[in-house]
Amino acid sequence: MRTDRLRPARGPAACRAGGRVTGRQRSDDAIAVSGSAWCGGGWCGGWWLGAARRPSPHHGARPRGARRGAVTLAVLHSISLPPGVFGGAAIEQLFAGRLDCDAHPYYARLRGLRVSAHFLVRRGGAVLQFVSVRRRAWHAGASSWRGRTDCNDYSVGIELEGLEGGCFEEAQYRALARLLRALARRCPQLREATGHEHVAPGRKHDPGAGFDWTGLQALLLRAGGSPAPPALQPGAAPPAGCGAPHERPRLRCKH
Ligand SMILES: [Zn+2]
Repeated sequence: MRTDRLRPARGPAACRAGGRVTGRQRSDDAIAVSGSAWCGGGWCGGWWLGAARRPSPHHGARPRGARRGAVTLAVLHSISLPPGVFGGAAIEQLFAGRLDCDAHPYYARLRGLRVSAHFLVRRGGAVLQFVSVRRRAWHAGASSWRGRTDCNDYSVGIELEGLEGGCFEEAQYRALARLLRALARRCPQLREATGHEHVAPGRKHDPGAGFDWTGLQALLLRAGGSPAPPALQPGAAPPAGCGAPHERPRLRCKH
């Protein structure tokens, strides 16, 4: 985590939902605000200004220590509630701890579950943020990556609205590429992005075979600039039938 531009609280809350920034500009990428965090480079503290803010109570402190608390990994997920139904409020309600588990038979299995992610990318490309990237969201569960257990400690969790194994929308890939680039600016030790299925193999299967890792990589590389975006693992072949996001933008997945 880059903390050198963060300063202690200096008055009433600032950087409120909606990303309104006030105050005098201190440099090209650092803006002093009359509140609790420094804003710059598209971020206010741990909140991305490209996302609509939906604070979740489901988070905790990252481990102490420069390395242990640093964000080095992005974990990509897929979620839809109920499965295959897009556009409703259930995901937000789940992360807020307010899902009515009697509202649909599928929700019964979610009763008492306390989970969250840092971000959700909707089918149309809108991005919501639930937890500051400075905090530990509850998205990966029992997990391991490159010999390090408990990925929640050192990762950012990004949910893509979608069906596990299904296809994702062009707008989602573009929004995800923007988000990963923004995260690379905010979290300079972020090196890799991978799937939930890869940090919890056998237990989790999202985002699944319909996710186009190579297409996303092409989008990230085509944008250029620095810092470099996180490398995607794995670099699998494009999924059959979904269309490469950078080549066939009008192709839509049929569920
Ligand atoms: Zn997942």
